[in-house]
Amino acid sequence: MIKTAVCIIGAGPAGAATSLMLSKLKIHHYIIDKETFPRDKTCGDGLILYAYKVMKILGDNIFEEFLNHTKILHSKIIRLHINAKQDIVFTESNDRDMIISYAKRIDFDNFLVQKLSETYTQKEFGNAVKSIQETTEGILITLKDSKQILANIIVGADGAQSIVSKKVAKNKIDDEKMSTFVTAYFKGINDMPAGNESEIRIIYNKMPFFFYIFPLANGESNVSLGSNSHFIKENKINLVDEIEKIISTNQQIKHRFNNATRISKWRGWVIPYAFGNQKIVGNRFLLVGDAAGLANPFYKEGVGTGMMSGIIAAKNIQKCLKNNDFSESSLKNYELEVKREFGKLLKFSAFMLKLARYKYIFSFIVSLFKNRLSKKSFAIIKKRSY
Ligand SMILES: Cc1cc2nc3c(=O)[nH]c(=O)nc-3n(C[C@H](O)[C@H](O)[C@H](O)COP(=O)(O)OP(=O)(O)OC[C@H]3O[C@@H](n4cnc5c(N)ncnc54)[C@H](O)[C@@H]3O)c2cc1C
Repeated sequence: MIKTAVCIIGAGPAGAATSLMLSKLKIHHYIIDKETFPRDKTCGDGLILYAYKVMKILGDNIFEEFLNHTKILHSKIIRLHINAKQDIVFTESNDRDMIISYAKRIDFDNFLVQKLSETYTQKEFGNAVKSIQETTEGILITLKDSKQILANIIVGADGAQSIVSKKVAKNKIDDEKMSTFVTAYFKGINDMPAGNESEIRIIYNKMPFFFYIFPLANGESNVSLGSNSHFIKENKINLVDEIEKIISTNQQIKHRFNNATRISKWRGWVIPYAFGNQKIVGNRFLLVGDAAGLANPFYKEGVGTGMMSGIIAAKNIQKCLKNNDFSESSLKNYELEVKREFGKLLKFSAFMLKLARYKYIFSFIVSLFKNRLSKKSFAIIKKRSY
């Protein structure tokens, strides 16, 4: 049996950021992932705010290499179309490089994993966690190949279907606090705007659906559509049929797909935003990223918030190791700090999402506050990015 102080389960952005920060703090640890890297992950492939902030915190040229990565695009503009006639524009100030970046997750996640420390990080990739059991000496993790790891503390960084969240924290999946999306890669979409500008639209069909065209390197684009998971299930909506209808009939969109070819199959996955309604710490464990339900309900940033939670987790683990105390009460500080960092923003975003259900009221409110929103966003971007 292997013994370690810390074991991270999942090497997506949240797990990788936790590992990189632990290494920065000179803490030896294990990181497990069921996949080998590079591995793909269903995503919109947009990176904003917290992703930049975390790469800057981690240092070691990570941010500079990210800026110069040949497969990553950057843009100084985000335009959200509320309806056919109304939009809100968020732009970056001239002294900064970008407000949003676009990277296929197969590239971005691998970029982070390649940065994991050779000194402090033991990698166990291509081996899924099958069971987790609390013992008197620590937490015992059993892997697919029957290997066992005993840890003082585990970090659940294993995404939206987290085994740590389900089996250890005993959280239940709440589809009211979750979005479901489908996404596919396309080539040859017409009229891609200059400056790597994306297309983000709210399209109403009883509920608001979010439609995205995100530009990618090599002339490819990520096209996606999603809405609240509970609503989709209740109304038996087939998201693939829905998005295919939109790209062939929607007046604002269809012309862009005249010559476009889909180059991947449609893939679906969920984005949990249940933070505040579920357990994220307990004896000998804490949850980060999607496992902790930390995606932004409105604009779906889950990569950056996940990475930032990894930074906060690593710093709290350092304190637990110092005090040799892995109890729930000593880990409560992690929960408090996560709340302090994201609480207001996630609450405001959840409120905006609720408001967006009422098409005309939302549109009216946006028209009233549009200028203030665009201006205020500067302060938010400054605080939460870089
Ligand atoms: C369609 C879609 C579009 C999205 N668009 C965006 C976007 O544009 N921008 C954005 O910021 N966010 C977006 N998100 C959200 C974002 O993808 C997630 O919030 C983000 O991936 C969370 O990172 P994570 O590290 O917590 O989890 P993940 O990235 O899911 O990583 C979890 C890791 O755990 C591993 N794992 C799982 N189970 C086990 C196990 N039993 N044993 C070992 N390893 C395991 C997995 O292999 C994986 O590598 C989108 C999500 C979806 C579904």
